[in-house]
Amino acid sequence: MQTEIRIIKGMMLLPPAPDKCQLCATKHDQREPHNKDSLYYQCWFYERHGRYPTWEDAMRHCARPLREAWERELKLKGAWEK
Ligand SMILES: [Zn+2]
Repeated sequence: MQTEIRIIKGMMLLPPAPDKCQLCATKHDQREPHNKDSLYYQCWFYERHGRYPTWEDAMRHCARPLREAWERELKLKGAWEK
């Protein structure tokens, strides 16, 4: 297997392990949100969008009921940001 080292904003990042999400380098069900706080995800997102991701970005691919549940819980914890 060839390892591709990505250079993002002057940082070199190894690709995520094969058993991890390839966007956030965290192990999670693909139907669930990405780990917004993952350094890999933040760098990947910044490279494409010129800003850091929010929870809304991290869960954009999720089904609406799951997004609404996550948003509700994040708001309860004071961690929600759009
Ligand atoms: Zn992910």
